[in-house]
Formats: sequence, C-alpha cells, structure tokens
Amino acid sequence: MSVLDLARPDIREMQAYSSARMEASGGTVLLNANESARPPSFPGGDGLNRYPDPQPRALVETLAELYGSTPDRVLVTRGSDEAIDLLTRAFCRAGQDGIVISPPTFGMYAVCARIQGAAVVEAPLAADGSLDADTLVAAAGPSTKLVYLCSPNNPTGNLVGLGTIERIATALAGRALLVVDEAYAEFAGTPSATQLIDAHENVAVLRTLSKAWSLAGARVGTLVARAEVIGLLRRIIPPYPLPSPCVDAALAALGYEGRRVQRHHVHEVLNERARMAAALATVPGVREVLPSHANFLAVRFADPAGAYQRLLSAGVVVRDITKYPGLGDALRITIGTGNENDRVLAVLRAGASA
Ligand SMILES: *Cc1c(COP(=O)(O)O)cnc(C)c1O
Repeated sequence: MSVLDLARPDIREMQAYSSARMEASGGTVLLNANESARPPSFPGGDGLNRYPDPQPRALVETLAELYGSTPDRVLVTRGSDEAIDLLTRAFCRAGQDGIVISPPTFGMYAVCARIQGAAVVEAPLAADGSLDADTLVAAAGPSTKLVYLCSPNNPTGNLVGLGTIERIATALAGRALLVVDEAYAEFAGTPSATQLIDAHENVAVLRTLSKAWSLAGARVGTLVARAEVIGLLRRIIPPYPLPSPCVDAALAALGYEGRRVQRHHVHEVLNERARMAAALATVPGVREVLPSHANFLAVRFADPAGAYQRLLSAGVVVRDITKYPGLGDALRITIGTGNENDRVLAVLRAGASA
C-alpha cells in the first residue's frame, strides 16, 4: 500500500512532459527552446529571454528549510491555489471521486473539485467554530480521495492542534490524503504539520508566501508532501510555472534582511490583531469577535450589511462572509496598518452612534 494507490491510475502511468530546459543543462549556447537570443532592452530585462527553471534549486532548498522539510518533498507552485488544483486533478477521477471539506472554510477546495467533476462532501465545523475530528473522518467515504483541513481556518481564524491533525491522519491512512492548509501558520506560531509527514505518508501541507511574507503578487506557494506525491504532481504541472522575477522576489524575501523584516511585520500584525479584537468588542453593534490565529478577524454584527456599507462609503473594503454557513451576520476584516485599523474603528463607532 502506497499513498499513490489513491491517485488516478491514468496519471500514475503518465510520462511527464519533458521541456527543453529540463533536458539540457550545462551548455552555454542555448538553441534548443526557440527562445530569443537577445534579451529585452528595458532595464531589468536581462535573462527574461530565457525560460525559467521549472523548480529552481535555490528556492526549493530555501523553502524546504523554511518549512522544516527536505527538497525532495517540496513542490513550488503558482500560489498554493495551484497546488490545490494539481492535487484535485491528480487524485480525483471526474464523476467518481470526491473531497471532504469543513465549511465555513476556504472556497478554492470546492471550486477546484467542481471544475474537475469531483464530488464535494461537507463536514461542517461545530457551532462554536471548532473542528470535530470524528465528524471529519466519518464524512470520508469509499470515493473520498482528499480531506481538507485549514488551520488557522479562513474565514473563522480557528486553529486545529497538531495532536488532532495526527489522529485524523491515522484514521484516514490508506483511505484519503489529508491536505493541511497552513496559509496563515506564521500568525499562529504553532508547529507545522510538515513534521507529521515522516510517520504519515497521507499528509500533505500547503504553505504560501502570499500572507505573512507580503508576496501575494508574486504567486509563490509550496506543497510539502512525500516525494512520490511531489513526483506525481510534477507530471501534470505546466512546464514553466514560476516566472523568474517571482523567483527572484521570493529569494529576496527569504534572505537575511527579508526574514528580519518579516518577523517585525508578523509581530506588528499580532499586536494589531490583539488591539483590534479588544477594541471591536466594545463597539456598539458588534455582537462577537471570533478568536483568531490568523491576520484577520471574523466579526459578528447586529447589522452586517449596514456596517459593510458604512465602511465602504469611507473607502474601507472588508469581506462580506455572510453567505458562509454559521456566519450569516459576519464580516471578515484583514489586519491593516495601525492607521488603517484606526479608520475601521472610527467608522464603526461613528456609525453605531448615528
Ligand atoms: C489565501 C489562501 C490561500 C491561497 O494562497 P495563494 O498562495 O496566494 O494561492 C490558500 N489557502 C487559504 C486558506 C488562503 O486563505
């Protein structure tokens, strides 16, 4: 039994597309990929005439170290959104297989499943927003291939402990791949599920530079999983997924100075999150501020539509999450700069007294 037994047989048998850049290395006159021999003329254009490395070694090694894993267990993707799509396509046969999600949660799991023609089974979070391990495991049936667990969860901000994640992985062994989405892990400061992969071949972890590393525009995500799973996904990932300017941006962000700034930035978010949670709880019209381990707060309002409109009229855009189950009165507010957060508080306080 291998975790690959869960994957689509046709994908397992497929050969990866072999791109020109993969086939030849070491040459200095590159005439094998129909690139332009001349770089573009604008400043910073050097090297852009060449196709990028499909999985740049320096970035793979840096991300492996950052996430407590090894290079053979790392796949760098265009945002973790792409990793979700690749997992869905590699594991779920259209019209036959499916995924399990715990709503309210991140929307892309279900979107990718629907595009692939995979069924979406829901194991809702408990009324207090916590994840019940037994409910999640029980929802995984014979056709389930992927079980998603988002921690800290978007949009509620709640965290699932590593012990619980491990129990779920054990219960799903041989039945499904447990995909742990840690997009907001840096704001929680808890140990990563990547350390479970040694003992649990059915655990895969999603990470991203989009949130705590300030690089949403560069689209750099990482899947950490067993080498067999990484190898399988490399058969279906597009040949050159990572634009070279994005790779350079990621390496800069992960350098010594970049890491120093990142720690400072995350620290600022945590301080502001605590300040906003306390302040929002005293605003008339706020029913509840959900405890959050991420860089946002889910806030229940007596009049969510009114609060949304007042903020919008003042130029502040927050996320309306009232369509999520159990959050019919809630807005999700990202933690901004101190000044931006003050503006949110001022608008809500003024509106509440009007
Ligand atoms: C933002 C987010 C992502 C997507 O991140 P990208 O790397 O930018 O694609 C994945 N999962 C969750 C839960 C998110 O909130």
